[in-house]
Order: sequence, then structure tokens, then C-alpha cells
Amino acid sequence: MRIDEQLKGAYERLTFVSDTAKLDAQLLLAHVLGVTSAYFYTWPDKVLTSEQIDAFERLLIRREQGEPIAYILQQQAFWTLDLEVAQCTLIPRADTERLVEVALALMLPEKAYRILDLGTGTGAIALALASESPKSSVTGIDFNQDAVALAKRNALRNRLDVEFLQSSWFEQLAPCHEFNLIVSNPPYIDPNDEHLAQGDVRFEPKSALVSAEQGLADILHIIAAAPNYLAESGYLVFEHGYDQAEAVRAAFLDKGYSDVKTYQDLAGNDRVTQGRKAGN
Ligand code: GLN
Repeated sequence: MRIDEQLKGAYERLTFVSDTAKLDAQLLLAHVLGVTSAYFYTWPDKVLTSEQIDAFERLLIRREQGEPIAYILQQQAFWTLDLEVAQCTLIPRADTERLVEVALALMLPEKAYRILDLGTGTGAIALALASESPKSSVTGIDFNQDAVALAKRNALRNRLDVEFLQSSWFEQLAPCHEFNLIVSNPPYIDPNDEHLAQGDVRFEPKSALVSAEQGLADILHIIAAAPNYLAESGYLVFEHGYDQAEAVRAAFLDKGYSDVKTYQDLAGNDRVTQGRKAGN
């Protein structure tokens, strides 16, 4: 069968599970053949070997069963980075680039900062900040050892210098009052949220998605503990759920933070909130 016929068949099968069926089919076949999609337009009539067809079929079946394309390809673009992804971490999302933008807006170009990323997963946020602020020193921590190893591979893959450590939130860090900026995309979904039974999140680790107290438990814990790790006037910035901004702002104010502000994501939902450590 010719490439264009293979792709058409795959596309028709994937329309039942994916809004981006055509792109998905092309990405999967390009992965099998080790080419870019441009190849399909140049050689639409090329005939595949039976090994190539079998390999393509195995990936198609996984996608038909709903597995996210990023896990199948073990790869995801984030910011200007190319990241390896695995099932031990969340797949980096475009919404989280908003957190990177907000953090960068709090920094002066060319200045050196101490930055901490809590629950770093693939290392996406830590690596994006390191790439934009080469003089800063960035630490990413995750409680999952596999995630820490993955984040270290992503630092090498993108030629960035970030320190990754295993810790449950601040547990392994001595109180230091030294970070100018702490960022986090913690788990924030309510355990009973029906969103967890749909789409990509079904395949992602629950520990990276779900938090008690209507999804707020980890955020509240971090807001309470962070002043022991923040320098004077340092900022703590979170990604959170679209309906959690008010609760997050209230928690910041309750713990004495100032300059508390919320920012919207690309869809116009409240997504990122900052607070500044008091005492300046
Ligand atoms: N934004 C993700 C989602 O709703 C959740 C990420 C998180 O819990 N940190 O799919």
C-alpha cells in the first residue's frame, strides 16, 4: 500500500479519538520512518515495507486507545525546548508557558537570580527559565526519582545547566531564605473532578494531577512553607485551576504576602497567581 493510502486509512481511524487525527497520523508514521512530514508530500506513492506497516500499526493502536501522542513519541515541545517525556510525569502544556512568561516578567534581564521549581516533572519550567536567564542558578525538585532522572536528561538534551534533586516539596532543603523566585505547577485537580476520566489525563500520573481539599492542599502547603526558603521580597508563582484564583489569592494574603496578582491563560481563564514575600 502507498504512503498516502496508509495515511488516509490511519486518519479515518483516528478521527474517532483525536481532534488532530491527520496530524497524529503523520507524526506517528514520520516517527516510524525517521523522517519529517515533508517526506509524505514528496513521496506520496512510496510503498512501505511490511515491517514499517507493522510498526505503524502498533503505534496507531495505542493512539486509538487514547494514549497521548506525546507519550507514544516520548517527546514534547515546550517553550523553545524539545523535551523527552515519559509516563512518570505530566505532559508539558501550552498553558504552563504562561507561568514561564509571568515569572520572566518579574525578573530583570541580565540579572542573576536563585530560582526553584517545585514538582518539576520533565523539568520544563526550570529549563525554560534557565534558557532565558543564563546567569541565574535554577534548581528543580520532584518527589519522583524517575522524573528527576528524566529532567536531568532533558537538561543535557537542551544543553542547559539546571540542578535537579529528589524531594517532596521542600522536605530535603534546609531553610535558607535564598530563592528570589519559586515557581510551581503542582497537582491541583479535585480528586472527584470528572475531567480526570477524559482525554490525555487518563494516562498521566494521578500524583501529578490530584490534590486533596478541592485540589488546593499542595498549593496551601507550599504557600505556608515558602517564606522559609524565599529571600526578602522574593516571589512565589503558581499555575492553578481556572476556578481556584480566589482561593489562592486569599491564601497568599492570609500568610502576609504582598503584590498578589492573577494572570489569564490563552483561553482567558485565570491560570497563574503570584505573591511576594512580605518584610521588605
Ligand atoms: N492543567 C492540567 C489539566 O487540567 C493539570 C495540571 C496540574 O494538575 N498541575 O489537565
